[in-house]
Amino acid sequence: MAVADVEAVILSVGRDLPFLTGYEAMPLERLTLLVIPRGEHATLLIPALEAPRVDPLPDVFTLLPWTETEDPVALAAKVIGDRRRIAVGDQMWSRFLVELLPHLPGATYVRANGVVGSLRLQKDAAEIAALQAAGAAVDRIATQLQSGQIPLIGRTEAEVSADLSARILAEGHEVVNFAIVAAGENAASPHHHPGPRVIGPNEIVLCDFGGTMAGYCSDITRCVTTGDVDPEIHSAYAVLKEAQAAAVAAAQLGATCESVDAAARDIISAAGYGEYFVHRTGHGIGMEAHEDPYIVSGNTTLLEHGHAFSIEPGIYIPGRWGMRLEDIVIATERGPLSANNADHDLALL
Ligand code: ZN
Ligand code: ZN
Ligand code: ZN
Repeated sequence: MAVADVEAVILSVGRDLPFLTGYEAMPLERLTLLVIPRGEHATLLIPALEAPRVDPLPDVFTLLPWTETEDPVALAAKVIGDRRRIAVGDQMWSRFLVELLPHLPGATYVRANGVVGSLRLQKDAAEIAALQAAGAAVDRIATQLQSGQIPLIGRTEAEVSADLSARILAEGHEVVNFAIVAAGENAASPHHHPGPRVIGPNEIVLCDFGGTMAGYCSDITRCVTTGDVDPEIHSAYAVLKEAQAAAVAAAQLGATCESVDAAARDIISAAGYGEYFVHRTGHGIGMEAHEDPYIVSGNTTLLEHGHAFSIEPGIYIPGRWGMRLEDIVIATERGPLSANNADHDLALL
């Protein structure tokens, strides 16, 4: 906070709060707010009815429950006191900030990301282990997919998505974050919403799925084919696989995020598919499915031990087909550590 020249950090819903306190606020219209004044004890302002869900950590914060007839915003302003350089959590609802503004005349605001982000960026050993456990869980589902244990032909994308979701929970995740199933031409839309389209023979099917397990996220993409497909799909997939492996290999300590992106992009561009790789190579992952660091051109952040992110290049030909290959990778002193190890080939079912 001193480095960021911030006098108070205020955090509400979102993952910064559980990261620091172990308590995750429900996204309610009732205000939950952790106030961290620089150099002083933190206060967790919380709706009284939620207080039983908090594990008290008196060394970390004082619990300040507010009752239904109190004004929590006025209470928050009182706790903030005369501090005027305020860092605000990304996911705090705008209504609370808008209501707080008139209570703090002359205050200036920055994103709390500048304070908390650097703490969350570097995963410690327990966090790396949690990401690996979540990765191993979705690897098992990917292997079921690749070995034909998850029926595809004759089912809708939505049905297969529901099947993947059930398996994500059965593997020990608390929550399913997404289960994209995109067949044939639908796979050309990177975040396709699985719908009523029935999966047929002889097409490519893209599955991108993940959840949250013990507070940490999984995220994997594998593609399979339901029979013979256009030979160009096979040649493009060979390019994609090479590009993905090159970016993983480039994820060494001290490398820039943008150089990891370039490692994948250069190979895809050289093969003539550059214009069809329409997104960044990856996103950071941890307590959130998407967080810093982003593996994208322009991001000169240097990789450090414990940075965790996806490597997921894709090629999307509108109206025809799409493909993506995604693993979660952690930069470590011993080189890139992949949390996903399911087979990387285009499985033929
Ligand atoms: Zn995505
Ligand atoms: Zn994904
Ligand atoms: Zn991803």
